[in-house]
Amino acid sequence: MEPQARFFVDRMLGKMAKWLRILGYDTRYGSIETASQIETLHREGVVVVTGNTRWRHLPGVFFCEPSRVDEQCRQLAAAGLIRHEDVRLFSRCLRCNRLLEDIPKEEAVGRVPEYVYATAPSFCRCPSCGRVYWPGSHVDNMTERFRRITGWSLED
Ligand SMILES: [Zn+2]
Repeated sequence: MEPQARFFVDRMLGKMAKWLRILGYDTRYGSIETASQIETLHREGVVVVTGNTRWRHLPGVFFCEPSRVDEQCRQLAAAGLIRHEDVRLFSRCLRCNRLLEDIPKEEAVGRVPEYVYATAPSFCRCPSCGRVYWPGSHVDNMTERFRRITGWSLED
């Protein structure tokens, strides 16, 4: 089976980048200035996602019509670039793209709201920026929204 896709998302598609990180995909985010930058990424096996028509015919580029992020996700899923079995919901920092590490509950003290500390079953932290994450209501919202988009159930 093909490994999970890795992405470089053009700065014009910020919401898309965030979604891909929420889904657990390795997603770099930045400006695309030159065709040789795209060539390099393509050689590394990274899929370039852009809404810029200038790049759409280059190999390794997935062109997303500038539309709602739901529609863009649907397009990526239809192209087989995001796949149900690859999704690792909330496994990555949304800011840094780093994989999160599980931390003992005690280490979350003072770093999350008190009610969260009292109720969340587990916590993890970004090794780069230190941001603490926990399974919360946004996870349910995301899984439901994603089910509507792709028909995939992400509950496990
Ligand atoms: Zn981070």
